[in-house]
Amino acid sequence: MTFQTGAEMDLYEHQARELFEEHGILVPRAEVTDSPGQAREIARRLGGRVVVKAQVKAGGRGKAGGVRLAADPAAAELTARQILGMDIKGHTVGTVMLAQPVDIETEFYASYVLDRAAGRFLAIASAEGGMEIEEVAASRPEAVARVHIDPAEGVTSAKAAEIAEAAGLPPQTVDVLVRLWEVLVREDAVLVEVNPLVRTRQGQILALDGKVTLDDNARFRQTRWGDGDAAHDDPLEAAAAAKGLNYVRLHGEVGIIGNGAGLVMSTLDVVAGCGARPADFLDIGGGASAQIMADGLSVILSDPAVKSVLVNVFGGITACDAVADGIVQALEQVQLTKPLVVRLDGNNAVRGRAILDERAHPLVQQATTMDGAARRAAQLATTA
Ligand code: GDP
Ligand code: MN
Repeated sequence: MTFQTGAEMDLYEHQARELFEEHGILVPRAEVTDSPGQAREIARRLGGRVVVKAQVKAGGRGKAGGVRLAADPAAAELTARQILGMDIKGHTVGTVMLAQPVDIETEFYASYVLDRAAGRFLAIASAEGGMEIEEVAASRPEAVARVHIDPAEGVTSAKAAEIAEAAGLPPQTVDVLVRLWEVLVREDAVLVEVNPLVRTRQGQILALDGKVTLDDNARFRQTRWGDGDAAHDDPLEAAAAAKGLNYVRLHGEVGIIGNGAGLVMSTLDVVAGCGARPADFLDIGGGASAQIMADGLSVILSDPAVKSVLVNVFGGITACDAVADGIVQALEQVQLTKPLVVRLDGNNAVRGRAILDERAHPLVQQATTMDGAARRAAQLATTA
């Protein structure tokens, strides 16, 4: 498993579609709007029958009712009205894309994704597209081909042919695979995904849905999509960013607060080693104030998935007694609703622990080692 720690920016489907089109990949004709009335107009322009698609940065829109066929412009207006404002996995639908329907013969899957562990890009492709690739990979791993890309060579026609063959994709997809790689390189993306890539009954290969994730480190030369909501598609990440916190949501059940990126990273690993999933990465840094602790706790506690919170601090520049004072003050500001396990070590650890003992909050417990603290927090999270 690879943790995404860098800030990255997902594009909307319609933006991905635009990039695909610019790079010569066939896509359905489509337009975007936030108004049901305009949806009717667009449907008329596109020939009447349209697919109305929620534009949210989340997959599985089809299953959630965010992708629907409308038979005529009036139906398109009604459908757009129903989809606009819908909630899909915590994202409110603000715009819809109306697309010309495509007569699908077969659905494939194709993507390039940064394999951080290997330090290379990986092509993932399958002749079984349409559904979530994780499901295919879980139930029929042999149906999913994985081919690493040599960074110096990229995806040549020969490489694309190798990928297509490994996945059982028809030879017509080779050209699309080469162009999709061009999208990745030219747009500084760390992920491009087409699901489904389809063959139509007329024999054309079309990208019917697209996801592109841009590398935030290249933002300076990729100004086209603006800052937008940038890295903070997640509402908790947005709230944390507004408070100036260094927080990344990971969707597990053990909330984690630590000082220093290295310590926080190893805390994630140790918690995972105890059989629980970290809920976040939160580095309060060297100058941990009571306010940062309170802000951090309030963000983590507002994550409904969180069952316990682990504070792992090694006192250095900020000594443990100051951190303990911060926790005590934070407990005044934030109503603690879940158990909190604290491990203080390093500078003034004994004094820090005494401060927390004295406060004697019923939901706060201490551990003296990182392993012990992680085990306790994991236990609390998995039995809660
Ligand atoms: P996702 O659910 O968020 O991945 O949204 P998709 O854009 O991938 O759409 C979900 C599914 O709807 C696709 O896998 C297709 O099976 C179907 N779909 C989308 N557009 C069309 C279309 O133009 N024609 C047909 N027949 N099916 C479509
Ligand atoms: Mn899709």
